[in-house]
Amino acid sequence: MGAGLGGCAAALALHHHGHYVVAVLDKVREFHRLGDSLGLGENAYRLLARWGCHVKEIQEIGNQSPTMKIRRWHDGKVLAEQPLMDMAGYIGHRGDYHDIFLKWVRERGIPIRMGCEVVAYSDPETSQQPSLTLASGETITADVIVACDGIKSLARHLVLGARDDPVSSGYACFRAYFEPTPQMRADPALNPLLVNGDSVNFWIGPDTHVVQNTLRSGREFNWILTHKDDGDVPESWFQPGDMEEVRRLVVDLDPQVREIIKATDRCLDWKICYRKPLSTWVSPRGHRIVLLGDSCHAHLPTSAQGASQACESAGVLAACLGMVEGREDIRVATRAYEKLRYPRTRVSQTFGEDLRDRWHGALKDVDGDVEIDPESVKIKVSLPKFLFSSPPLLQGLIVVVVAMVVAMVVAMLRVCVLLTRSNFVHTEYTTLRL
Ligand SMILES: Cc1cc2nc3c(=O)[nH]c(=O)nc-3n(C[C@H](O)[C@H](O)[C@H](O)COP(=O)(O)OP(=O)(O)OC[C@H]3O[C@@H](n4cnc5c(N)ncnc54)[C@H](O)[C@@H]3O)c2cc1C
Repeated sequence: MGAGLGGCAAALALHHHGHYVVAVLDKVREFHRLGDSLGLGENAYRLLARWGCHVKEIQEIGNQSPTMKIRRWHDGKVLAEQPLMDMAGYIGHRGDYHDIFLKWVRERGIPIRMGCEVVAYSDPETSQQPSLTLASGETITADVIVACDGIKSLARHLVLGARDDPVSSGYACFRAYFEPTPQMRADPALNPLLVNGDSVNFWIGPDTHVVQNTLRSGREFNWILTHKDDGDVPESWFQPGDMEEVRRLVVDLDPQVREIIKATDRCLDWKICYRKPLSTWVSPRGHRIVLLGDSCHAHLPTSAQGASQACESAGVLAACLGMVEGREDIRVATRAYEKLRYPRTRVSQTFGEDLRDRWHGALKDVDGDVEIDPESVKIKVSLPKFLFSSPPLLQGLIVVVVAMVVAMVVAMLRVCVLLTRSNFVHTEYTTLRL
């Protein structure tokens, strides 16, 4: 449910692992080129390639800059430079990436049904299949429902039975994406950012930073200004921003990028919200409705891993489901998925908070031109290598261990069921957690 990047990744992974994907549903009637830049890391690339996707299609439309530069706010001095692969991976336009993901799903014969808004779920206690209900009244059942309905997930409330309202992170972003005018391209100050290939730069200052990147060899330009914000702008990808406020915030920014930001005629105002970590990603009764992607592990922009982690979750869910022998064991697979993914996505989420805090604090108590240690502002890839990025021998070992754990739990469940049925022991196996 949800045909964003997470929903498409789930369909691709499940299909690859031999599961029958009934359909991918989305409430919108038509997809537009929405959003702006989004990073897909090497972890996502490896998985997509493993699922038979021609990843060159994404590489070709992504930013081609090999490195990113981390600069001082007021004069643009380069404080550190490092490979893009250390964090964002391939930066591309979300809408373009989405088009390709949708194409890959269609190529596999998986139906994508548009205009299908899910309004209710049924999570039966017994061995019955879960179901969802569309706004049209149609009901669809399946062995497993994967809810990839994004940051404002309805499934999260319906599945968990409780509301979890967004919590302000204390920051918001102004963001703009446009084609630079010929005058901008001809401007010698902007020239290095717009011609001779793509660029990626970060300007860091006290409690603020600007991300700038180009796409299509400088023919498209994206800037994102993160700033302190305790107002109550609605959490939306469509809320217009106040360019007057932007101009005020960039008044002492490096002139190289200040002018292009000041000259931008419109931008979006995106409040960065947190969701508290969920107690579970799996429906409590039947354990057959699972959350995936932003619906359960949304990331800060400084993590640059939202879409990549959704791909990882898709891979792990499909692999776990591939290990069960019968429908009665699905609950073990969905629980195993949650237990395997939860700690890793937490690391990846907190990694974004750490980077933002280091960037926003780096120049706080430093006078003008004092040198700072480049390492202190570099992006540190603290994520342990993902299962599918590990060397083949280690991969094999991890898969064997996971398989053994899943097999053990399945065996334990079976014993519990037998004992319960034969009245030897009254075990509440439905609440068993891995
Ligand atoms: C409009 C938009 C613009 C974005 N722009 C950026 C960006 O510029 N940079 C960036 O890093 N990240 C952006 N993101 C977030 C990014 O796409 C995600 O972090 C990441 O791709 C993981 O996506 P997801 O599939 O979990 O969620 P999403 O990408 O949010 O996809 C969720 C999908 O579920 C559908 N849906 C929601 N509720 C229902 C329902 N009740 N019934 C049926 N379908 C439903 C939505 O229409 C949507 O297509 C954007 C997200 C959206 C929705």
